[in-house]
Amino acid sequence: MTALSTNELQEPEELLKQKTLRVIDIIDGTSVDGPGLRTSIYLAGCRHACPGCHNPSTWDFAAGQDMSIASLLDVIEEAEFPVTISGGDPLYQSEGVTLLAREIKRRLGLDIWLYTGFTIEEIRASERLSQPLPYIDTIVDGPFIESKRDPSLHFRGSTNQRIIHLKH
Ligand code: SF4
Repeated sequence: MTALSTNELQEPEELLKQKTLRVIDIIDGTSVDGPGLRTSIYLAGCRHACPGCHNPSTWDFAAGQDMSIASLLDVIEEAEFPVTISGGDPLYQSEGVTLLAREIKRRLGLDIWLYTGFTIEEIRASERLSQPLPYIDTIVDGPFIESKRDPSLHFRGSTNQRIIHLKH
């Protein structure tokens, strides 16, 4: 994992106001993106281009709006639900996701799920993609594969996708 700079560690509050994520939508109280009621944050941008993707409009990295990490934390804190970070594929915004997930854990101690089209093996092999892993509790990994679609699956679309509980 890439270490945060000394400056970032000294000025976390200012950093959280400056750093932004490109956010398409936030839904409080959803039950489809992990166990229980959750706050789901949908981030813009995806290059996996899975045939049969449920929402190709999320592929656009310019979709939605910029939100600071600080304002996202305010929304999450007010809702008090565990959190799911989805998209798009949130790992294309790995640096901001790392900051967000780190502060969710530090300040609020909430459970975090993350959905990604990368496999866990691809993530672990990449310094950039693996940055958020220390703060994520559960990853749902892998691209959506239409021929492996199974509507009876909970919290995933196709049988190749895995629900991986990370142990820290
Ligand atoms: S990873 Fe998800 S958002 Fe991206 S193309 Fe595949 S199904 Fe769609």
